[in-house]
Order: sequence, then structure tokens, then C-alpha cells
Amino acid sequence: MKIRDVEAIALAVPMDKPVAAPISIPRADEVAGVVFGQYRTTLVRITTDEGISGVGECMVRLAPTATRDIVHAVKPLLIGRDPRDIAGIWDLLWSVMINRGHVKGFYIEAMSGIDIALWDIFGKSVDLPVYRLLGGKTNPRLWCYASSLRFRGLEVLKEEVAHYKEMGFTSMKMKVGKNPHDCREDIRFAESLRKVAGDDVMLSADVNCGYGDDVKTALQVGRALEALNFYWLEEPLSPENVDGYAYLRQNLDIRIATGEGDFTRFNIAPFFKRDAIDIVQPSACRIGGISEAHKIADMAHAFHVAYAPHTGSSSAVAMTVGLHLATAAPNFLIYEHMQSDWSKEQRNPLRWDLCELPITSFKDGYLEIGEKPGLGIELNEAVVKKYRVA
Ligand SMILES: [Mg+2]
Repeated sequence: MKIRDVEAIALAVPMDKPVAAPISIPRADEVAGVVFGQYRTTLVRITTDEGISGVGECMVRLAPTATRDIVHAVKPLLIGRDPRDIAGIWDLLWSVMINRGHVKGFYIEAMSGIDIALWDIFGKSVDLPVYRLLGGKTNPRLWCYASSLRFRGLEVLKEEVAHYKEMGFTSMKMKVGKNPHDCREDIRFAESLRKVAGDDVMLSADVNCGYGDDVKTALQVGRALEALNFYWLEEPLSPENVDGYAYLRQNLDIRIATGEGDFTRFNIAPFFKRDAIDIVQPSACRIGGISEAHKIADMAHAFHVAYAPHTGSSSAVAMTVGLHLATAAPNFLIYEHMQSDWSKEQRNPLRWDLCELPITSFKDGYLEIGEKPGLGIELNEAVVKKYRVA
């Protein structure tokens, strides 16, 4: 089997109305219009001489055409190769930029989309779902949590929690960290959520690196969350602050989670070496594809760290990739089942309409995944056409 064509497709959905930053990014007031001005992604479609084709996603939070152009720039390296030589192709692409500083960011996101499309092809070529190729159905049922709650007033919170409970969710995550200089608001939100959700719901809090390098604020919030029996504290600090993460883990009982802002196993390794985290949350569409996320999950296992794939505000392809990795990983903890969009008024069609997730059942907080080969998805071409960037 040989690769015949590689096509990258940039998709962008403009927001009807400007939205405030839904997560706690630095200088949110100034940058929200650019960062959250569109729902975006870049898809990769690889076709072979045997009529099998695969699809992948590059996680995109800015400039989907940049990722698209990178994929097209490396296309000559892929044409004519056997798409099942996945590790070799990964290494080939990695070697292009390794001595030029592009070992994180857009380049690795572009590589991720290519890698995922190759796994889709591999699965289809042997008529097996991707999770079978990663080790099999280790977890026939995947525990999942509703992501994510934001504080929009007590009444709205009550409604949202009731809705998720009604859907069957037994775990939920909230977003905090908007005001890094005054964390009392975060603690009050956590207290309200615990009260509204009751004692039986497994709760976690995601800071999206909002406390920057302020380890003491993270510590203060972590202690308050411990008292409220929250399960994990996610991305409290900047992704580079491995020492800060290690300090938090040593000084808190609540579990420390991170990984969605990281790239490749090389970037994640220091967190394991320093015993800095309890839960690793790589995003396959950013970190280097299924190959890299799978290696990181295994690496985590060797360090007694749990694996909880990140999906975030990505497309349904990314959601699907996380399902396959979660199904196979022995150290899998819980799956991020995205329920919210950046805007309550405008849902993300890339999340909800781009393809149907290969979920066969969702009950009592657990979901099951089907047996279709490859990723088990088919793109809705009307959605692709509608949002494709020229
Ligand atoms: Mg997160």
C-alpha cells in the first residue's frame, strides 16, 4: 500500500458575537477577540493507492491555514510511502525540524494530524478499530465527565448540574483562575458547586494555567478544593513550571493533573522524572498524534501516573481519537466528554456536526465505543464544505 495524496483542510467558524475568554488565559480582555474569534481546526485526509483513506485532526487554536500549509509542505516526504510505517514516518517528520526549534507548537500539531490519519488507514486496512491496534478493549466501558462548568450565577449552575446529572454524568469539571490575584472567587465557586452537585459527584477544577507561576495561590486553592473533596486540580501553573508542579504535588493531597499544553514524550518526561503529577492529560491532536499519546500513556503507567485524555474545544475527530486511546490504556482514569461551547448562543458545529462519534451507548456516566474499523467515523462533507477556508 502506498500513500497517493495528502490533503489538509483548514476549517473556521466565525463567532456571531464576540465572546469573553471562556478560560483563564493571561490578558484575556485584550486577546479574547483573536483567540476565541472562531471555532477552528485543520483536518488531514490521506488517500492510498488501494482506495483506503484516513482522516486526522491537528488541534488548532489560531491560524488553521498555518497548520494546513505545514502539512502541505511535508507532503513530498509522504507520497509513495507505505502508510502503515507509522513510527518511521513520525521519525522522518520529526527529523525535519528537530535542529530548528520547531519541537513544539504548530509543527507538532501538523504532525499530529498526519499521524492520526495513518492510524485510521492502518485500522481500515486490517478491518479493526484503532483501539484494537493499541492493545485492545482493555476498558469496555469508559467513565467520563461533563466538561466544563463556568460560573454564570447560582441559578444557571443549578440548571446545568441538574442537566448533566439527568444525562447520567457522575463526574463534572469546573473552570477557575480568571482572577489570579484574588482566588476567593474560585473557592466560592467550588463551594457552590459542591453544594449544588451533592457529595456523590466526582468534581475537578481546571485552571488552564491561570495562576501562571504563582505557586502559593495554586496551593491555597488546592487546599480549599481538598476540603471540598475535589478529585483533581488541572493545569494550575504554566506548562514549563515543572518545579512548581512538583512542589504542589508534594504539598497537596488533591491530585495534580496536566498535559494538554505539552508536546511530545520528550516534553512530558520531566513531569514523570520529578514526580510532579498524578494524572497526565495529553491531547493526541496536539502532542504528536496517536503514536505519541499512546507512548505517553504507557510512560505514565511506568511512573504510576493515571491517564485521562484531553479533548477540549476540538472537533469530533479529536473526541474520537481520545475514545480509542482511552479504550486501550490500562491506566485510563476518565474521559473528557465535552458538553459546553465557547458561547451558549452559538454551538460549535465542528464538535457537534462534523461527524458522529463512534459511541454506541452512554449510561450512568459510562460510554461504550463500537467496532467499526479505523477511527470509525465518516466526515459530514457538507460541514467541511461550509466552513472550509479558501
Ligand atoms: Mg483543561
